[in-house]
Amino acid sequence: MNSFIKMLLVVPDQGEYRMIRDLLGQVLHTDYQLEWRDSLDQALKDILTEPVDVILLDYHWPAGNSTHLLTAARSQGCRVPIIVMTDQMEAEVDRTAIRHGASDYLIKGRIDSQLLERTLRYAIERKAAEQRLADLAHYDPLTGVANRILFRERLEHAVRVAQRDQSAFTLMYLDLDAFKQVNDSFGHDAGDVLLMTCAERLNRCIRVTDSVARIGGDEFTLLLEQVHAPKDVAQLAQKVIDTLAEPITLAGHLIRIGCSIGIASYPEAGNNLDALQKHADLAMYQAKQVKGSHYHFFSEALNHEVHRFLKLESELRLALQEEQFVLHYQPRVDLSTGAVLGVEALLRWQHPQRGLVTPDTFMSVAESSGLIVPIGYWVMRQACRALLHLQEQGLPEIIMAINLSVCQFNDDALVVNVGEILQQERVEPGRIEFELTETTLMENLDRIALCLRALSHLGCSFSLDDFGTGYSSFVHLQRLPIAAMKIDRTFIADISNRLEDSRLVAAMVTLAHSLGKDVIAEGVETVEQQQLLLEFGCDQVQGYFYCAPLPLDTLLQKIADGVSAVTEPL
Ligand code: C2E
Ligand code: CA
Ligand code: CA
Repeated sequence: MNSFIKMLLVVPDQGEYRMIRDLLGQVLHTDYQLEWRDSLDQALKDILTEPVDVILLDYHWPAGNSTHLLTAARSQGCRVPIIVMTDQMEAEVDRTAIRHGASDYLIKGRIDSQLLERTLRYAIERKAAEQRLADLAHYDPLTGVANRILFRERLEHAVRVAQRDQSAFTLMYLDLDAFKQVNDSFGHDAGDVLLMTCAERLNRCIRVTDSVARIGGDEFTLLLEQVHAPKDVAQLAQKVIDTLAEPITLAGHLIRIGCSIGIASYPEAGNNLDALQKHADLAMYQAKQVKGSHYHFFSEALNHEVHRFLKLESELRLALQEEQFVLHYQPRVDLSTGAVLGVEALLRWQHPQRGLVTPDTFMSVAESSGLIVPIGYWVMRQACRALLHLQEQGLPEIIMAINLSVCQFNDDALVVNVGEILQQERVEPGRIEFELTETTLMENLDRIALCLRALSHLGCSFSLDDFGTGYSSFVHLQRLPIAAMKIDRTFIADISNRLEDSRLVAAMVTLAHSLGKDVIAEGVETVEQQQLLLEFGCDQVQGYFYCAPLPLDTLLQKIADGVSAVTEPL
């Protein structure tokens, strides 16, 4: 069977063109489609835009030799085998040509059709084999896009070109949301399909001059050589987000893929490879802090913010090791009888320089760094000990409320660990109530529902914290074993001077009761608020009006004295 080879002949004169054409005409079994260029500049342009199988190039030209074409073609990524034709007895020339990227050489006076055919074929085959090896080393076998090694090479090249030409380019780091969940819930085959789909969609978003790479499990990069104006970059990032979000069917489930994108542009975000990579990564990290798909540009302010974050993270780690955390406890009071039904454990950080620090300054760092998991276990253990102490001091029926952030459910061992802590600390699970924040609860409902059911089998109960601030659907809430709603203190703040607020809170109480849940109002600070809540039929209250969060020993004293007098927060 005849094969077909496309060849570009780059020689200055027509005599040589005719000679090669005639020699190729004598070759059996292979059809050559021959293109002739008699200018090096034109040839270079065509080499980079019109793919051919092999190039035959004259070494000597009237204006000098052709090594610059070789170098330019290779440095701009041309992988086609190039065979150089030299005159006789020019061993040095042959070596120079090979060094500049020629695949082989032919000596003009000695070429016959057989030698020509063999040389061309051999060069093509060798190049193809090299290419296969290079592909293995440079491409991700699953998705077919560039791997980390090729990405780095391309980035190095982009930096060199930009430095030389004083041009610009943009780097994007992209991380898929929920990839781990897909792998865990639908299996690795589904995870693979997801990655392949993403790679294909990313390729769809970019121009031919841009490139996609997969540099880690679910991390991709985009290198954009042409897009640079922030507006265009932002538009492209949004396009990527929208394209990835198109529904995809995995293992029979229709899902949408979210992602976080960090953007670093040369030269603003760094003028070298490492700075750009680090800054794109930081920007991505920042994008991740926002719920849902999001992109974020690197800036110095961001850099500063990230350093602050990292510093706080390492301080928190140290705080955990060195036992700088303490718990304060705020009573929950039965609104109609004034009896203390329980206490809520609230985390404090006894900072060696800054003094007592409240969670609003460090909770988001603890959550996004994952440190809330070990801190959370420390809280549970500590709260259990405090509960035993309170029981020993004559409060046997009291409930200990412990805040649980949704990140803590990322720990697969949560249920087992809680069970273990309760057992080791000899606390009856029925005395523990976990407070879950509404805003984040809906994100991972299925998984959390499973954990809650397991924990409620142990005997623990749950309340919904900050009720009113999130977007809980009641249908979903009904699926969770939640016994009480805690109305967020922002709703309570104005009930005595804004009619709308008081109506809203009244409605919330009615609603919660109609769902069979108890109602706890937080942040009660005044007697007027207390009176209104009593009218609305609210069950329990918590707030400075009764008692601020206190250390355990002070709390006992306070309870003994009665909690209905106003106390200032510590
Ligand atoms: P939260 O669960 O809504 O806790 C109630 C917050 O309101 C506490 O702030 C408490 O000190 C404050 N507060 C209580 N009564 C009043 C009042 O009458 N007026 C006003 N203005 N505020 C009042 P805190 O202790 O700073 O805690 C802030 C948040 O940090 C908590 O909000 C909770 O979401 C989180 N948190 C605290 N401890 C832990 C913990 O151990 N684990 C987890 N995951 N989160 C915690
Ligand atoms: Ca709470
Ligand atoms: Ca709350």
